[in-house]
Amino acid sequence: MSASHAGTPLRSAPALAHGARFLASLPPYLRKRIDVASARALHERALATRENRFFEMVGAAAFDRPQSLLGRLFRHAGVGRGELHGLVEREGLEGALKALFRAGVYITVDEFKGRAPLVRGSLSLDATPESLRNPLARFHVAAQSGGSRSKAPPFLIDLAYVRASANAFLLHLDANGLASSRKATWESPGAGCRFRLLKYACFGPRPDAWFTPVDPRDPDLDPIFLWSQRAMRAGGFIARAPLPSATIATRDDPSPILAWIQSCLMAGEVPHVHTQPTALVALAIAARKAGADLTGAFGTTLGEPTTVARLATIESCGLKAFPRYGTIEAGPIGYGCRNPTEVDEVHFIRDLHAFIQPGENGPDVGLPPRSILLTALHTAAPYTMLNFSMGDEAIVDESDCGCALSSLGWNPRLRHIRSFEKFTAAGITFDDTEVVRLLEEVLPRRFGGGPADFQLVEDENDQGEPVLILRVHPRVDDLEESALGEAFFSVLGEGSPIAQVMQRALHGSVTLEVERGPPHMTRSGKFTHLHIRTREHA
Ligand SMILES: [Zn+2]
Repeated sequence: MSASHAGTPLRSAPALAHGARFLASLPPYLRKRIDVASARALHERALATRENRFFEMVGAAAFDRPQSLLGRLFRHAGVGRGELHGLVEREGLEGALKALFRAGVYITVDEFKGRAPLVRGSLSLDATPESLRNPLARFHVAAQSGGSRSKAPPFLIDLAYVRASANAFLLHLDANGLASSRKATWESPGAGCRFRLLKYACFGPRPDAWFTPVDPRDPDLDPIFLWSQRAMRAGGFIARAPLPSATIATRDDPSPILAWIQSCLMAGEVPHVHTQPTALVALAIAARKAGADLTGAFGTTLGEPTTVARLATIESCGLKAFPRYGTIEAGPIGYGCRNPTEVDEVHFIRDLHAFIQPGENGPDVGLPPRSILLTALHTAAPYTMLNFSMGDEAIVDESDCGCALSSLGWNPRLRHIRSFEKFTAAGITFDDTEVVRLLEEVLPRRFGGGPADFQLVEDENDQGEPVLILRVHPRVDDLEESALGEAFFSVLGEGSPIAQVMQRALHGSVTLEVERGPPHMTRSGKFTHLHIRTREHA
C-alpha cells in the first residue's frame, strides 16, 4: 500500500477475508464457459421448475427456520408448508403470492434496510438486510448498494448467481443477434461493474475494456476499490482469462470509448457497451461533434429511465440501445423488448423471479397499486425476496409483442418503470435518508430556511442529458447560490466509500442548477424531497 493510503486503511478484516475467498473461487468460475445452447437448456429447466424452487427457498428460509423474519411472517399469516403447497396448486405461483400479500407476507425496502419497523397487525419486527439473506446461497463476491452513511456491511453474492445472470444476459444478446459481439462496460468502480465484467467473462470473446469516469487508483478514494480491482485481475491471470484494467473515460471526454467502438467497427466486429442511458447520450453528442457514425454499435442501458429524448439523441449517431431493468440486490429483472410500445419496455426474466402488483390493496399498506413486488426464484440469489417492494412501479403488459424475447417465455412486459422513493441521477441511486438529511438539516443550517425550503428536481434537457435542479424557496434570504452546489456535492460524498465514488461520478456528469420558487407539491398536496419533472413517454 502506498504512503498516500496510510490515512485510509481497509475498512475491516472481514473485507480481507471476503477478498481471499473471492480470489480462491474466481479461477474455477472463469474457466467454466457458457454458450447459447447451454444457456437455453438451463433457461428451459429453470422455467419448468419455478414452483419447486419457490418451495425449496421458502422451505429453507421460513419453515426450516421458524424464528427467521420470513418464518414469523408466515406463522403470523397462518400459512404452513401444506397450506402453501395447496395455495400454489389452486391459484398458481402468482395467485399464491397475491394471497400471501393480502395476508401480510411482503417486505418494503424501508423495512428491509431497517429504516421502518415491520408491523403486520399484532406482529412487530425489526428487519435488516441480514434477516433476508438466502440460507441456500454460498457467498463469494462482496457488494454494497446505495450511498448510505450507515456503513452497512457489504452483502455477498454467490458466483452461481452471477453465472445465472450471465446466462440471462447471453440470451438477451442472442435474441438481438449479438451473442458474439465485442464487449465493454462504462461504469464507476464498485460492485455493479465487477459483476458486469464477471458476467462478460462467462461467454463469447472475453471483455475488451472497462471504461470508468472515476479512477480506482485515485489515492483519495478508499483503497477497497483498488484492491477489488487487483483481486479481479489476479483471478483472471490465474485462470488465464484476462480481465481488463481501468481506462479513464469521463462524460466530458468519452474519446477513449469512441475510439474503441470505431476500431471494432473498422475491424468488421460488433461493439456492445453497458452503461447508463445518459452516458450514451454524452457519447452520442461527442460522436456527432467528431463527425463519427456509430451505426453497427449497440448498448444495453441500466440504472435510470430510458426516455424518448435520451433514446433520440443516442440513435442520432447510429447507436442502438436496449434498456435493462435490474438492481444490485436482485440482479437482472428485465431486458428490452424489440417492438416496444414505450422506449423503456422490458421483458420480465421469469426464470429468475416472479412478481405481482398489489392493485387496489396497495394503498392500504402505503404502496402504489402498480408497485412491483418481486420474489426471488433462483436458489443462489443473495436474498430470499418474497413480495419485495424495491420502490418501483410499472405498467404491465400481457399482450403478445411478437419479439424474440417473448418466445423465450420472458413475459409479461414492464414499461414506464419509475421509482417512487429512490433518488436517482445520472444512473446513481442515493440513499434517500441521506438526501433527506442534506435537504432538511445540512442546507438550512448553512444557508438558512427550514426543512421544506429545499427540494431536488430531476429533469432532462431536450437532448436527454440529466439536469439536477436545487429549488429553493424565495423566503430563504441572502442565498449564496455559488456556494450551494459545492456544499451539496461535498455533503453527498461524506460517509461510506461508495458514497464517495457516487459523489464523484455525479459531480462529473451532472451540473446542479439553482432555481428559486416554492416547492412542487404532489397531486395530493404533499411535499416531496425529490420531484421528477415528468415528460410524456408515449
Ligand atoms: Zn418484445
